[in-house]
Order: sequence, then structure tokens, then C-alpha cells
Amino acid sequence: MGSGLASCRSRPGMTEKLAEAIRAGDRRALARGVTLVESTRPDHRAAAERLVEALLPQAGAATRIGISGPPGAGKSTFIERFGLDGIARGHKIAVLAVDPASKRGGGAILGDKTRMAELSRAPAAFIRPSPGGDQMGGVARRTPETILLCAAAGFDAVMVETIGAGQSETTVAEMVDMFVLILPPAAGDELQGLKRGVIELADLVLINKADGELAEHANRSAADYANALRLIRPRTAGWETPVRAISALTGAGVAAVWDDVARFRAALETSGAWRQHRADQAGAALRAEIGDGLLAQFRAAPAVAARLPDIEREVREGTRTAADGARHLLKVFARDV
Ligand code: GDP
Repeated sequence: MGSGLASCRSRPGMTEKLAEAIRAGDRRALARGVTLVESTRPDHRAAAERLVEALLPQAGAATRIGISGPPGAGKSTFIERFGLDGIARGHKIAVLAVDPASKRGGGAILGDKTRMAELSRAPAAFIRPSPGGDQMGGVARRTPETILLCAAAGFDAVMVETIGAGQSETTVAEMVDMFVLILPPAAGDELQGLKRGVIELADLVLINKADGELAEHANRSAADYANALRLIRPRTAGWETPVRAISALTGAGVAAVWDDVARFRAALETSGAWRQHRADQAGAALRAEIGDGLLAQFRAAPAVAARLPDIEREVREGTRTAADGARHLLKVFARDV
């Protein structure tokens, strides 16, 4: 990887070559591109931005599906089954596993590969665990760019998996077209305790493990969740979030999820919500980049660095308000730039 990335840095033409190889569906090139966008080195970042820009026109067609749910709900098992089913239907599948480092750490890289063993061997699939442990509660900062690269490489269904840890669901929901929540069968009282915020994000709810002894329980749960969802305002006008009992293990109900995905896309494209949603996400990404960029420049400005320790001390000691300290530093910054 090292030499490949180094050449991107030294010769801008290499970025175009890499873009071409990615457009042609070369998986090794895609893996290199993803490594490049995940790098935090400033020279790599510049090359990554050129790469993303070059691939932007090819990246619009894919469907981006977020998969979330508590640990043990069966996400990996589902993705393997759903992915293989999708390949049989002619899809090309990319899976980006997002690991909040605090929960699963680097070990998940191997774990996910092992659990999605068959899918990871399929030529029409690309599985890439993201590095955890950076901003946004472990959700990789650059996942939207990784999604874009996969889409440009011809993967028409890009799945982003997260475990149900705090903020990561919201973050993933903000970077995908359709957010799928996978839950284990639950009793009525557990349902009461369900985090409303998360279920409100769902475009599709799958109650997994509807097999064997759990089948009846799962079906009852699905009916309960469907009732609970009726009380919540729909996230997207013109789409009522379906709740399905499925078994990732036996495959029962999994194929129907592809039909849900197609129906969802068709409904939103018809209403204009699909484009609106993507435009909103792009706008939010712009604001996030501006925020990050400004903060980096602010921190790097010598005049700010010279004044910051004193002002911070005064604020901490209570002799200056935080608002006044910030105003002063922003003034210093504005004079500096
Ligand atoms: P994840 O943590 O959400 O990715 O969950 P896994 O996919 O690793 O599954 C957790 C456990 O549940 C494993 O032991 C699976 O074999 C089991 N499991 C997953 N899906 C099903 C299912 O549909 N039925 C049953 N009975 N067990 C399942």
C-alpha cells in the first residue's frame, strides 16, 4: 500500500490512472483508493480529493443501504444472505463495516470477514471494514467518500453496517439512502424501552430469527413494532416503514427485502424525495467540511496560538466569559487571515 499511495502523491497523473482503474471495476485499485481516502496525511488528502472529484460523475446510481441493530441481532448473518441473494439477482455488492473501536476494535476486521465468508469470496462483492476510533463515535469520517468510490467502481448496492452504539446510527442514517434496522424478537415491555430516536430513522425494520422456536415470537414482535410505528410520523412522505419477520439463518423473507429496496427507491424517485434527500446530504457534508476546515485553520493560526493559552486560563478561572474569549480569538483570527 505504501508505495502505491506514495506514487499518488508524487505524480498527480497517477490519481487519474487510479480513477480509471476504479471506473473499470478493478478491486485492487478500489482497495487502494479507499486506503487513500482514509489516510489523514495532508498529501494523501489532496490526492484523495482529486480522486473523489474525478469519480463523482460515476457515483450517482448506486443505492446506499445502512444496516444497524444491536450486537447479536444477526446483521452479519443477514448481510451475507442478503448480499448473496442480491448477487444472484445481478447486483454487485459492497459492504463497508463500520466498527466503533470502543466496542469491537480491530479484531472485527477478521471477525466480519470470517462471518461473511461466502460473500467475501464472491467476485461480485467487495467487503471493507472501516477503521474505527476516529470522529463521530467511531464511524469513519471518510465513509461517504468510500461509498462514492465503491459506487464508481460499479457496485450498485453499497451497504454500510454499524453496530447499535450511540451516535453511529444517526451518522450512518445521514450518509445512506435507506436505513434498515435489524432487531431480535422482543417482548412487549422491551418494546416500550426501545430508543424512539433509532426506530424513527428506520425505512425498514426487520425482526430477525423468525425460525424454529423463535418464529412465533418474532412474528408477534413484528406486529407489535408495526403498531408502534403507526404512531410515529413517517420519516419520508409517501413511504410507510414496513416491518418484516425474517430469518437470516434460513433465508426466509430475505429475498423480499430486495423488493422493499426497489419499491422504496421507486417511490422516492417518483415523489422527488430521493433527489431532495441526496441534495440535503450533500449540503450537510459541505457544512461539515467548512466547519472542519475552519477549525483546522483557526488552530493553525499563529496569532490564535499566541493568545489561546491566556484566554483559556482566564475562562477557566472565571475572570472572562467563554463568549467573550471566543469573540476575542475570532477577531484575532480574522485579522490574521
Ligand atoms: P451481529 O452481531 O448483529 O452481526 O450478529 P451475527 O450475525 O453475528 O449473529 C449473532 C448470532 O445470532 C449468531 O450466533 C448467529 O448464528 C445467530 N443468528 C443470526 N441470524 C439468525 C437467525 O435468523 N436465526 C437464528 N436462530 N439465529 C440467528
